[in-house]
Amino acid sequence: MSTETYTFPITKTTHSKLSYFDWDHLHFGKDFSDHMFMMEYKDGKWEQGEIIPFEHISMHPAMSAIHYGQSIFEGMKAHRTSNDDILIFRPDMNAKRFAESAERMCMPPVNEDLFVEAIRQLVKLDSEWVTKRRGHSLYIRPFMFATDELVGIRPSETYKFMIITSPVGQYYSDPLNVKIETHYTRAAYGGVGRAKAAGNYAASLYPAMLGKKEGYHQLVWTDASTNTFIEESGTMNIMFQINDVLITPDEDHDTILRGITKRSVIEVAKKWGIKVEERMITVQEVIDAVNDGTLQDAFGAGTAATIAPIAMIGFEGKQYHLPSVESRTLSNRIKTFLADLKTGRVADEFGWNLKV
Ligand SMILES: *Cc1c(COP(=O)(O)O)cnc(C)c1O
Repeated sequence: MSTETYTFPITKTTHSKLSYFDWDHLHFGKDFSDHMFMMEYKDGKWEQGEIIPFEHISMHPAMSAIHYGQSIFEGMKAHRTSNDDILIFRPDMNAKRFAESAERMCMPPVNEDLFVEAIRQLVKLDSEWVTKRRGHSLYIRPFMFATDELVGIRPSETYKFMIITSPVGQYYSDPLNVKIETHYTRAAYGGVGRAKAAGNYAASLYPAMLGKKEGYHQLVWTDASTNTFIEESGTMNIMFQINDVLITPDEDHDTILRGITKRSVIEVAKKWGIKVEERMITVQEVIDAVNDGTLQDAFGAGTAATIAPIAMIGFEGKQYHLPSVESRTLSNRIKTFLADLKTGRVADEFGWNLKV
């Protein structure tokens, strides 16, 4: 990966929030560091990107992203190690996925090296926002949206690519109660489920709200045509361990977001000699495995929580209770390993961390 090939003009803030920032009361996704990255696309090319003080942006009421939804994003984290380095976990994977999302949404790709370098330089400038507090990290949010001032349906000719960062605390989620969703759908074959596109999340809110009313934390999405195959859990990928085999839906149908956490779990598990299967998995197979006691583990995988254990599955009005979270050797072991890897407590044998 290149370093320092891209240089961005920097305008430093004169009003750093650091001196009065309340680290004891972090609000996930609401607190932001001092600077942001901004780059504009027009006349068929990306202009010079720059790092500027974090501030509001103004927009035209006809800005096309608002009306027609060309808007994509990414998410990753930077961690502080005990010897005061800052590590970013696999940003090259986010760069690649961002380019793929852009292509699907008919938006101009951002050069992958530039993407990584912009993140690295932004985090370097705001390095004091990456604290050593255990479990804390700096959440990095790159995003791109259409900025044409036109109410008319066609690919926008202008875009903004921005990166903002947000200090976040230890992410703890209670073991999840999830409902197998058999009516609403997240993604269809040939649709945009594989893209990290803003509209996918808007579409999931209403069914998720209905699920919450029934007492479920999240929905498990099933395939759009038959509602029998499991796809994802909420905004995470989903993984099961049945009869010592780690099983997760394959990515062949454009309906599954290609998660970096999931990919990392697979690579670690394989290295540890655990059998992994990426294939279609039916709801019935999972229910049968719960019933006959062969289901050992089930969890969501994503950047926010890394591993979010599933405690109970609701399906056709019945509740299926999974083995206790403490008893889950595999997901607990992987969770600890990934946390140690990201914070430099174990050697980075995979070469996944980018040092800022
Ligand atoms: C972001 C996301 C994931 C997880 O991806 P990570 O790269 O592991 O954070 C999974 N599913 C959906 C729908 C997502 O948006």
